[in-house]
Amino acid sequence: MPFCPKCHYEYVSGIVTCPDCNVPLVDKLAEERKSDPAEEEYVELHPLPGHIYAEMVKEALERADIPCILIPDMISTGLQVKGTAVPGNQMRLRVLKKDAARAEEILHTMMDHI
Ligand SMILES: [Zn+2]
Repeated sequence: MPFCPKCHYEYVSGIVTCPDCNVPLVDKLAEERKSDPAEEEYVELHPLPGHIYAEMVKEALERADIPCILIPDMISTGLQVKGTAVPGNQMRLRVLKKDAARAEEILHTMMDHI
């Protein structure tokens, strides 16, 4: 499938230029993916047992210059313990792969004190 290298829009085969950007389409967006903070560059840390802990860890990570994303784990929590758990109780934390080891360390240190 051809892609536009500029707007990343996917076109059907046969189209050779992006009508929006007026640039030739490419087969793959491999090059762009490398420089993009794409999802595969993120790794997931331990699920955290609650929103408050998650926020605390997030703050600590940000203080250590580790960018992170908090994801509420509503669906799987709901499925695991149907009817008994508060939905969204568990939080997942994503950090960049290169920061993962450092983030885990901070996380463990913090969990020891909680
Ligand atoms: Zn385009």
